[in-house]
This record gives sequence, structure tokens and C-alpha cells, in this order.
Amino acid sequence: MAGYVWDFAEGDKDAKDLLGGKGAGLAEMTRLGLPVPPGFTITTQACREYMRDGEVPPELRVEVTMAMRRLEDAMSRHFGDPADPLLVSVRSGAKFSMPGMMETVLDVGLNDLTVHGLAEFTGDERFAWDSYRRLVQMFGRTVLGIAGEEFADALDKAKAARGVASDIELGTDDLRGLVDTYKEIVRDQTGRDFPQSPREQLDLAISAVFDSWNTERARLYRRKERISDDLGTAVNICAMVFGNLGATSGTGVAFTRDPATGRSGVYGDYLSNAQGEDVVAGIRNTHGLTELERLDPEAYGDLRRAMRQLETHYRDLCDIEFTVERGKLWMLQTRVGKRTAPAAFRVAVQLVDENLITMDEALSRVTGAQLSQLLFPQFSPDGDRTFLAKGMAASPGAAVGMAVFDAQTAQDWAADGKDVILVRRETNPDDLGGMIAAVGVLTARGGKTSHAAVVARGMGRTCVCGADALDIDLPTRSMRVAGHTVHEGDLIAIDGSSGEIFLGEVPVMASPVSRYLEDGLEVALAEAIDDETRELVEAVDRILTHADVTRRLRVHANADTPEDAARARQLGAQGIGLCRTEHMFLGERRVLVEHVVLAVDDAERQAALDALLPVQREDFVGLLTEMDGLPTTIRLLDPPLHEFLPDLTELSVRVALAAARGEEDPHDVRLLGAVRRMHEANPMLGLRGVRLGLVIPGLFALQIRAVCEATARLLAGGMDPKPEIMVPLVGSVQELHLVREEALRIMAEVTEETGQDLTMPVGVMIELPRAALTAGRIAEEAQFFSFGTNDLTQTTWGFSRDDVEGAFFAQYAANGVLSVSPFETIDERGVGRLVTIAVEEGRQSRPGLKIGVCGEHGGDPESIRFFHAAGLDYVSCSPFRVPVARLEAGRAAV
Ligand code: ADP
Ligand code: MG
Ligand code: MG
Repeated sequence: MAGYVWDFAEGDKDAKDLLGGKGAGLAEMTRLGLPVPPGFTITTQACREYMRDGEVPPELRVEVTMAMRRLEDAMSRHFGDPADPLLVSVRSGAKFSMPGMMETVLDVGLNDLTVHGLAEFTGDERFAWDSYRRLVQMFGRTVLGIAGEEFADALDKAKAARGVASDIELGTDDLRGLVDTYKEIVRDQTGRDFPQSPREQLDLAISAVFDSWNTERARLYRRKERISDDLGTAVNICAMVFGNLGATSGTGVAFTRDPATGRSGVYGDYLSNAQGEDVVAGIRNTHGLTELERLDPEAYGDLRRAMRQLETHYRDLCDIEFTVERGKLWMLQTRVGKRTAPAAFRVAVQLVDENLITMDEALSRVTGAQLSQLLFPQFSPDGDRTFLAKGMAASPGAAVGMAVFDAQTAQDWAADGKDVILVRRETNPDDLGGMIAAVGVLTARGGKTSHAAVVARGMGRTCVCGADALDIDLPTRSMRVAGHTVHEGDLIAIDGSSGEIFLGEVPVMASPVSRYLEDGLEVALAEAIDDETRELVEAVDRILTHADVTRRLRVHANADTPEDAARARQLGAQGIGLCRTEHMFLGERRVLVEHVVLAVDDAERQAALDALLPVQREDFVGLLTEMDGLPTTIRLLDPPLHEFLPDLTELSVRVALAAARGEEDPHDVRLLGAVRRMHEANPMLGLRGVRLGLVIPGLFALQIRAVCEATARLLAGGMDPKPEIMVPLVGSVQELHLVREEALRIMAEVTEETGQDLTMPVGVMIELPRAALTAGRIAEEAQFFSFGTNDLTQTTWGFSRDDVEGAFFAQYAANGVLSVSPFETIDERGVGRLVTIAVEEGRQSRPGLKIGVCGEHGGDPESIRFFHAAGLDYVSCSPFRVPVARLEAGRAAV
């Protein structure tokens, strides 16, 4: 029955769309027979209707009533029963995990009466009042919107009055007093009493969870993680179990493997006599799971078994929230755990070796973004440094930046282009903006599962947490550590792989994975400093090798010089997809280009072209030598001609001044005339690309001849050059036809002159909508297509890449017109549709037509998936993106 409410026993792990990740995990654990407190999930559908209508669907109330009855039966307790009350938690849980972004309320159902029943039934009065004060606090903050400090300050005062440092040292009377204080705060701040009706508490908490979907920070997080705003959250209602029932109780978080390094073996944090949120909030420093093993070996054994069962079942690293109530283990949450980039690679191959997953699956478990993180430099072990302290290695990377002590400063300074490291006692969800802006995050409190660690890991931000040697003093904007005082703005360095913190700058060196990519497995293994590094390099090698044999897309590189070409080849490029020739006409050669443009007659022009020929030939000899045996696509001159000529204003001034002095320079005068003639209001749409080639006689011919002569020379030397000639900015087949005729003529001439057989493909860049729409006609003349998706995006959307980023993209992202820049990830619906049309019609008229892409998108993971699906033969990207593209092309194929 498709209602709004599902009991935990009804769902399973695949129902995430409807039940959210948490609900699906609770359902799956229930099915597996693990000890989950009974409960039910309100679907995301209810949330979507709530957002649409502004009120909860009326049927929902009835369904909740019925579900609560079932829950009461299962627990043999009644909600609101003054003698022995049932308490529940009301927990958010969206499809994609958004750690700490949304709300949860625990201990719902307590009031002035039931608190006595709870005390009596458990025989623990202190515990009952501790739970009640937690409820008023959490409910006040999340449901009634009261600032958290109000309660935190009251708690601090109570602790100070008693002269204790930690909340567990507060006695029953203190807590009872605190409940009164909290209730007063509620009255003062909202003008009403804390609701005593359990059902009213429940209904308000449910709406509050729905509302938490749309908080500022939740929206910000979703934008960052590219999660859609209209999914909504589910709500999980779960019978309470109590980790704060004295020393034989406690709560913790566990990972089935270390999410920071991928090391196998259990890993986690435990706090005795505490409720769930204490661990994550970093309120007290936690202990490892060994603490639980010491305190309660039996419960620990149960936990280990549950973890093994979950990992085998999910066939992946899982993270788990659990509570021990008087020696009994309860499972409160599980999901496939977030992990760092090195852990992702290591865990994937570990699972292959444990026969839990296949290599194809291993490939799908890592991403190109993670691979690029592994390429970031690391701190070099050589050289001087000032060691300050060591915290926990929570998220890897080497970050150097100015220390800042609050999120807003981090954002402001980062906006000024400064690298900052956000230093906090502990972070909370309001710090998200600062964490995004910072190059690294450092906290004094909290374990590897604290908010700071989880969020930083999720976004690949370097993080060291729980460095308790830091004595942070927010009012003076400084911290004292190891005899030093670090002021806001001072440089510090943090190592997210070792947990070390340094004063000032620390030199960096290439990461082991980039050593591997550049110099091969043997070198990287020989240089690896420890087993973990060796394992990581091997894992990357195995997965990348598998990607290479699996992928259908070839990966080429955009490279203009022999140096870039060599680097690209080293990184695994199988050709050059785009060699831009414009830089070859700058510097000293610019004068010659001026002559070509300014020539008064053919003879003068020919002289300039003749002078350019040998240098251009040498360019291609160099490039083709480096790329011996691999396809090398050379694009004929593309940019507007005026880019090679002097600036109009400067030249006008120079000529005017010379005229005033009576020292007119005839060359300058002629140049000025030409520059004026060529001046365009909108050069991007002006005389460029193939238009230039057709308007300036001899220019393309020069380039084509240079390619032919270079090729002939290399052929004669026994090499295997594979040049391809690419014509830019074609809109009409006729343009291509003219250039091609000329190319064929030159090939024939040079064949004749050199005796080498020169037949090289002539193809076209598809970067105008008209070219895509007439691809069938164009393919009759073109031997290959290469999508220039940068220009195709500009011309399809009608906006210029160089101008819009600052102008209105930020606003477009904020108001949802664009979720991501179309220059970063291909706009599938618009630009992608042109690609699909061109592929289909191009291959209809020329079966087997070779098609690639050479825009920025060729190195973007999501776009690569699209190009794979669209049936392209290759993607071409900048050399340093080649490994990422290899991996993503492999992932697209499994
Ligand atoms: P988050 O998504 O922020 O982790 P949760 O809904 O998981 O929020 O809950 C916050 C904390 O409260 C967690 O530590 C969780 O284990 C704990 N918790 C949630 N429900 C219960 C319950 N029924 N009994 C005891 N602890 C709970
Ligand atoms: Mg949780
Ligand atoms: Mg272009």
C-alpha cells in the first residue's frame, strides 16, 4: 500500500528515494535481524507535498497515529504514559547523506509527568532529568528556532555553579533546575510554554524536520554537492534507547574500515554515559572503540559481528551509529561510508581481494575527482619546519594558509584571494561556508567522526581535528600552542595525512601517485615511504589499468608544444586531439604575420609566407616526432586576426604623435589603416577560424604545406607521423570544401616533390550550432569531427565565457537557472542535443566517421559519461587531466 508511512520492517536498502538513506538503512538492518529499535519512516513524498502545500498531508496524521499504535504494541509501552512512557526520536534523513545539515530531536514524549515515570521505571532519576533537559534543549533549538547559545550558556552556568567541567558531573537537582531554566528560556523567547502534549511535540518535530530541508546551510550544502533541491527529506520515528543510563551505557560511531586511510580493521569513537549527538558534536573528546572493548567485551563482540555482517552484506565500507543501553547493543544507523580519496582506492582493491566485489565494481567505486586529489602535492620531509602539535589525520592533503578563527572571516579573506585555514575549537553546521572557502580545517576538539572531519572528508578538504594542544582564544583572535602564539593571519601548515601542524610554510613535493603516473610503478614503489603508500600506488595502478582495458573512449590530449606532448604521452594520452597553432605566430613571428596582412601585392605577401614556412615546419617536426605513431590533430589558425596586430588605440596615439612632430612612419600609417579595417565590435563572432583562412590568401596553405613537409621529412627518416588537419569554426559545408580542395592540392604537390605518400585526413571542428545541424552535409567532406564544446556552448547559449563568469553566473547559480556552469559540465539538454544530432547525422552520411571532443569538457567526469553514451570515439583534454579522463572513461563503460 502506497501510504506516507512505512514500518522499518517493510522497506529495504534500495528504497532510498522514498525512505531516504537513513530510513533505507534502518529497514535493511531490521530485515537482516540486527537489533534495531522498532520504528517507522515518513516518506520523502510527504515532505514534497508539505513543501508544495505548506502543510502536512491530512492523511499523514492518521497514518502516524496508526504507526504509533503499532510501535506502542511492539514496545509494550505507551506514548505519554505517566508510569512508563514510550519515547521516540524524530530524525531527518534524505536520499543523499547531508551530515549534520538537518535536524533530529531525541527523547520526544517527555513532559513534567512522564519524566517521573521514566525515573521510576529505570530507577535512575538523574538520567530521566538529563533526558528531559536534552529534549527541551533540542526541541527549543530545532523546532522552536531558539539560538543554541541560550541553552549552552545556561548549561555552562549550571556547571560553573557546581564547579564541574563536564555535564556528566551534574547531579539530579542541577538537571532539574536546568529543565526549569530551559523552560523559562522557551517562554521568554517564544512567548509560549514548552508543549507538554507528547503528540504535539511529535507533530511539531515532524514539521521541523521537513522545514530543515530548506535551511540556508542545507541549500548551500546541496549546491556544493550538486544535490537537487526538490528531493525532500524523509522522517524517521524511532523508539528511544538510552546511552545515558549510567556507566554500562554509551553511544558511538563505527566504521568497518578506517575511512581516512582505508586500513582494514574496525575503527570508531565511543563515549560512555552519553546520548548520540554528544559524539558527533565533539562536546567531549571521545575514546576509541577499544574503550568499549574494555568496558563491555560482550557488547563489543556483538558490535564486531554486526559490522562484519553489514560489510559483507553491503560489500563496502559501512559506517554505523550504535548505542549500548545497560549492556545491550542497539543499531541506530548504517550506510555506505564516506571516505577519503586514498581510502576509496585502497578499500576498493581490498574488497576485490576479499572476493566481495569484481574489478568492474572496484572501478565504479572510485571517481576521477578522487584521483585528482591524489595528485595534489604533499609536504616534503626535507627542510626546516616548526612543529606545533599533532591532531588526528581526518582528511588528507597538505594545506598552507593564514589561520582564521571564524567562518565569516574565512569567507571574506578567501574572497580576497587569500589561502586560509579555518581554526575552530569544533565546527558546527554553520561553519560550512567557511569550510568551503578554506584550503584546510583545523579543530581542537572532536574525533575522526566529528562534524569537521565528516564534512571535510566529504568535500575533499584537508582536515586535522582534535588537536587538543591548541588553546584557542576567540576574543583575541589567536591561539597558543607549544610556546608560540599564532595570530589571525599568521601562516600555518597542516598535514591531513599525518595530523601534524606546523608554523609557517612547509615545502611541498610531488605525491606518490603523481610519481607513479609520471615515472611508472617501479619508481613510485621504490620511493614509497611506507606500506600504506605502496598499497595506495598499487591500488591506483590496478584500477587505472582495469579502466584502460575496459573503456571504449580513447583519451587524447590538447597539446601545442613538444614538451606538452611528451608529458601527455607519459600520462597515457593516445594522441593529440587538439594542437592549437596560434602561439606559433607570436613573438618574433608576429612581424611576419603583419607583413602577410599588410602586403600591397601578392609578391610581398608570398615573401612573408615563405619566411614563415620553415619555422612552422620545424614546429610540426618537433610535435610529430614526440607523437610518433599516434594521431595528432592540428588545428589551422583560429583566433581573430587583430589579435596578432597592435592595439588600435595605442597605435593611433603613436601615429598622431609622430604626425605632430612631422616624423611620420609610413609603416605605422599603413599598419594603422589595416588595424582600423580589421577592427571588429565583436571579434568572437567575427573574422576568425575558417573565415580568416578564406579571406587571407595563402595563410592556411602555408600551414598545410608545413604539416606536409614535416610529415614527408619524418617519413623519409623512417618514422610514423600521423597528422590530421582540422578546420575551425566551419558553419557551412562549402567553407570546408574550399579548404579541403586546397589541402588535397598541397598534399599532391608535396607528394610529388618528396616522393613520400601524403594522404592525411582533413576534418572539421563542430563548434557552431549550424555545423551540428548540417552535420550530414558536412560529413560528406569531413573525414572526422571534433566537437569544440567551449565555442559550441558559447554559441548555443549566446554568452561569452570570458565575460559571464563574474557577471551573472553567481546569481544564476543562486536562483537555480544554472546548477553548474555549462562551461564546466556539458549542458546535456541543449549543447548535448546538438552533439547527439551531429553524431547521428554525421555517421549516417559517413559510416564509421571518427568523432571526438576537444573542449574543456573532455576532462570533466560527468561530461565524459555523456560523450561515452553519445558514441564518441575519443575525448581530448589537457595533459594533466588525462589520467582522470582514463579513469572516468572506464567508469562510463562499466
Ligand atoms: P544525524 O543524521 O545528524 O546523524 P540522527 O538522526 O542519526 O542525526 O541522530 C542524531 C544522534 O541521535 C545520532 O547519534 C543517533 O545515533 C542518535 N539517535 C537517534 N535516534 C535515536 C534513538 N531512537 N535512540 C537513541 N539514540 C538515537
Ligand atoms: Mg546519524
Ligand atoms: Mg573554437
